[in-house]
Amino acid sequence: MKILAIGQNYVEHNKELNSKNPSEPVVFMKPDTALLKNNKPFFIPDFTDELHYETELIVKINRLGKNIAKKYAHRYYAEIGLGVDFTARDIQRKLKSNGHPWEISKAFDNSAVIGNFIPVSEISDVQNIEFHLDINGKTVQQGNSKDMIFPVDELIAYTSKFFTLKIGDILFTGTPVGVGKVQVGDRLEGYIFDQKMFDFKIK
Ligand code: ZN
Repeated sequence: MKILAIGQNYVEHNKELNSKNPSEPVVFMKPDTALLKNNKPFFIPDFTDELHYETELIVKINRLGKNIAKKYAHRYYAEIGLGVDFTARDIQRKLKSNGHPWEISKAFDNSAVIGNFIPVSEISDVQNIEFHLDINGKTVQQGNSKDMIFPVDELIAYTSKFFTLKIGDILFTGTPVGVGKVQVGDRLEGYIFDQKMFDFKIK
C-alpha cells in the first residue's frame, strides 16, 4: 500500500507557515514503513529538534482507480478517519528553502499515524467534518473539512491522474491551523466530532 498526502490545503495553516495558497494540490507520499497504528507510542527520532504534529482527516481507498473523475470520486472510499502527519519541521524548513524534496522530513518511519475509521454512510457531509487534537487533555488543534482548499473528491481526481489508487491506500488530506511541537511524555487524543479516533503517547 501507499500513503498519499496533501500539503497546504487550509488557508489559515498556510498563513502560520508563511506558505502560499497553491493553485493545484501539493502532493507528497509516504512509504508503508511510515505507518503507525493501534495507538502504539511514537518515539521522537534523534534527527530532529522540532517534531510537529499535523492532525488530518484521512481517507481509505477501497477500489482500484486511475484518472478518476471528480463526480465519481466518492465511489472510491467508504471510510474516513483521523491521523497525524508527523513532520520534522526544522528539516522541512531547510529543504523547502533549498527547493528540495520533503521526504526525509515527512516520510520517515512511523510518521503516518492512523487511527480508527468511520463509515462515510454515518457522516452527513464529507465536507463538513469537525475534528480536533487534544494534547495532555487540552485542545491544541481544531479543524473542519469545509475549510479545505481542495475537497476530498477533487484530491482523489487529481492524485489519480498521476498514481493508480489501490485498495488500502490512504490519503492524508492536509492539516488545519494550529500545528506545534510534541514532547516526550505527551498524550495525543484525536477526535472526529466527539468520537475518539486515536489515543497514544510520545516517547
Ligand atoms: Zn500534513
